[in-house]
Amino acid sequence: MPKTLRIGLVLPDVLGTYGDDGNALVLRQRARMRGIGAEIEHFLLSDDIPADCDVYTIGGGEDSAQVIAAARLAAVPGLQAAAADGRPIFAVCAGMQVLGRTFTAHGQTVEGIGLIDATTSAMDTRAIGEVSSLPTRAGITSELTEPLTGFENHLGGTVLGPEAHALGKVSHGVGNTSEASVEGVVQGSVVATYMHGPALARNPQLADLLLANALDMRLEDLEPLELTLIDRLRMERLR
Ligand code: GLN
Repeated sequence: MPKTLRIGLVLPDVLGTYGDDGNALVLRQRARMRGIGAEIEHFLLSDDIPADCDVYTIGGGEDSAQVIAAARLAAVPGLQAAAADGRPIFAVCAGMQVLGRTFTAHGQTVEGIGLIDATTSAMDTRAIGEVSSLPTRAGITSELTEPLTGFENHLGGTVLGPEAHALGKVSHGVGNTSEASVEGVVQGSVVATYMHGPALARNPQLADLLLANALDMRLEDLEPLELTLIDRLRMERLR
């Protein structure tokens, strides 16, 4: 177990709508509540992105912001190296689109960094509202059992290629596209989603799964945390 867990918050100066930066805070707090030292490292547009953090989070954003983010991630390929090394990466909305092969911004097709086998293009109507799904338990999410809940707001519709798996089967809301009834992506050590919230505050089991991966442990071996307020928030949102 590392002495201090290093949580990389990637490009919070351009990506991080709807409190997505909170995903890093949730990881840090849930580690500390278990007596595990944890720190957040901010990697801004002007910084390099080291490849040796224990876990990374990247948030959502506007079209213009994600074009800037994609160019920067291609220029400083720390996240790509971290993924190649199997380090967990959690990406939300624009963050997910940017990790894919291509996405659409302001009607133009833009290159992503190709960490996930997913392509995003504009849907006919924007998906806005609550989204919930049941975990598919693909790949590194095999230990997830709890329904997933979040808030989606995206015009981009994301189609998965054969190397990518869905994170959830949609039970409410749109998810990746209006047709596919699936939400998010799991590929290698990357878990990506359209869920804002922030997602890890609303889905503590998903937060713990990322923590467990960062600590090289199984989820079932992580000491449980009893937080009744979080349970109540989840029940309210899932209703
Ligand atoms: N700009 C992207 C879209 O509309 C992502 C939006 C977001 O991150 N909330 O699809």
